[in-house]
Amino acid sequence: MMKHSFEQSAKTVAVRQDWHCMRCGRNTRDGSWPGVSTHHRQLRRSASPDVRDSPANLVRLCGTGTTGCHGWVHAHPALARRFGWIVSMWADPRRVPVKDWRGQWMLLDADGDFQPISRGEAIRLISENTNETIEGDDDDNE
Ligand SMILES: [Zn+2]
Repeated sequence: MMKHSFEQSAKTVAVRQDWHCMRCGRNTRDGSWPGVSTHHRQLRRSASPDVRDSPANLVRLCGTGTTGCHGWVHAHPALARRFGWIVSMWADPRRVPVKDWRGQWMLLDADGDFQPISRGEAIRLISENTNETIEGDDDDNE
């Protein structure tokens, strides 16, 4: 099974997003407030090892686990699932689309590429990700 290094994947994800925050589009390259972090869409303990630290499971967000868009995602998990920024524990991150800062939906693959998809297809796929459940959270700032 392919293992990804978190550090390498985080660099790939930054380039994939052209240094924008996935949610708000802020340029995260200069390190200005509120900073930047790489968020695990699916909890590390829930994700299968071949996907866990791969670019399919990571998005770059401004802020930390408590500030900026990263903080927002953790404070609003039900909403964040509707945008694919959080992936439910039973889903495959490669099959749960994510919405970017421009409003474009895409599927992310484990190699760091992405495939734009239509809003209709995204809504169909995202519906499988949004069963309302209480999930634990972990601190995935790294
Ligand atoms: Zn942001």
